Amino acid sequence: MDYNPWRDARDNFADYLIDRSRELPAGLKGCVKGKTIYICRTLNQFSRRTTLSHELTHIVRGTNHVLYLSQPREELAIDKLVARQFIHIDKFIAAVPFGGKSVPAAIADDLQVDQHTLRTWVHNLTDREREYIEIRLQERDHP
Ligand SMILES: [Zn+2]
Repeated sequence: MDYNPWRDARDNFADYLIDRSRELPAGLKGCVKGKTIYICRTLNQFSRRTTLSHELTHIVRGTNHVLYLSQPREELAIDKLVARQFIHIDKFIAAVPFGGKSVPAAIADDLQVDQHTLRTWVHNLTDREREYIEIRLQERDHP
C-alpha cells in the first residue's frame, strides 16, 4: 500500500498535534515544537504530505529542531528517506511520458509529491537503478 503520512501520524504519533493553520517563516515548510507538528498552511497538498513525512522522520530520528538549516546533512538524509518512502521506481517509470519528454512538474504531480522530493529521489538513484529505468523506458518506448 502507498505510504500515507496522515495515517502514519494518526496511528503512530497519536500524542502529537498537527497544526496546519499557520504561515511559517519563509523557507520553513514544517517544524516540530514539543508535541506539535507545524505544517505551513501555504503549502499545496503534495508538499504538505512530504513535509509531514519529513517532520515525522525527524521525530523518529530524534533530530527535530526548529532551525532546519542548522544541520544540512541531517536535512538531506531525511529528504532522501522521505523521497524513497513516496516514490517507487516502477511508479516513476509509469509517470514518465512516452517518448521520454519528461516534464518534472507533471511527473511529480503524478507521483503526488512536490518537485523537491522528486529531484531528491532522482539525484540519489544508484547506478543500477538508473540503468534499470533506462532499460525499462527503452523497452516501453521502442518495443
Ligand atoms: Zn528538517
